[in-house]
Amino acid sequence: MVMSAPHVRPVAVQPLGDVEPSVIEHLADQLKSFAGVPVTVLPAQPLPSTAFYAPRNRYRGDKLLEYLDQATPKDYAHVIGITSRDISVTKDKVFDWGVFGVAQLKGRPGIVSTYRLHARSASEALFTSRVEHIASHELGHALGLPHCTSPRCMMNDAEGGIGPVDAADGHLCDDCLKRLRAILSPTPALVAPIPLETAHAEALPREAQGLATLDVPDRLAAR
Ligand SMILES: [Zn+2]
Ligand SMILES: [Zn+2]
Repeated sequence: MVMSAPHVRPVAVQPLGDVEPSVIEHLADQLKSFAGVPVTVLPAQPLPSTAFYAPRNRYRGDKLLEYLDQATPKDYAHVIGITSRDISVTKDKVFDWGVFGVAQLKGRPGIVSTYRLHARSASEALFTSRVEHIASHELGHALGLPHCTSPRCMMNDAEGGIGPVDAADGHLCDDCLKRLRAILSPTPALVAPIPLETAHAEALPREAQGLATLDVPDRLAAR
C-alpha cells in the first residue's frame, strides 16, 4: 500500500461485458493496494454499442471513457472499466491502434482490456500480473501520473508491446511513488508540476505540445 488516504473518494471498478469474476477480484484488490483507497465493484454492464468500431470488431477507448464517466455515480472519484474485448485509440497517425488500456490523465475514467494480455501464451499467473500492472497504470494516469521513462516503472509507456509490461517489476519508481504520495496527500497544493517532457506531450506534433501542457486534464493517456 502506498499510503492510507481516507480523504480520497473511493474508486469504482466497472466490468463491461463478460469478465471472469476472478479477474475482477484481482483487479479490485490491486487498485486497493496500489492507491490505498476504498474500491467498489459495480454490477457488470453491457459494452455500450456507441463505442463499437465495426471495421476492426473492437471498441473505441475514447468512447468507453466517455461512457464510464457518464454512466457511473459521481461519488466515485475514479472509475476503472474492465473488458475482455479488444479496445483501441487514435495514436499519432494511426486512427485505430489496439491498446491494453487507456485513461484520462487527471480525470475520472480509465479502462483495462484483457484481450491482449494473453499474448505469448501467458500462464495464468503472468496474465494476472499483467492485468494488475495495466490496472495500476491506468489508475495512475487517472490520478495524475504521466508516463515515466524509467524502464522498470509501472508508468513506463509500453508503446503497444507486452515486453515492457513483463519487464516492469510491478512497482512505481521512486520519482513516481513520490509524485503519487503528493497527489494522495491531504494537501494537494504540494503536488509538483508535471514536467512537459513526461506529460504525454512526446507523442504529439511539436507545435501541439504547448497546447497539450495547458490541456493535460483532457488528454487521453493510452497505455
Ligand atoms: Zn516512474
Ligand atoms: Zn499509459
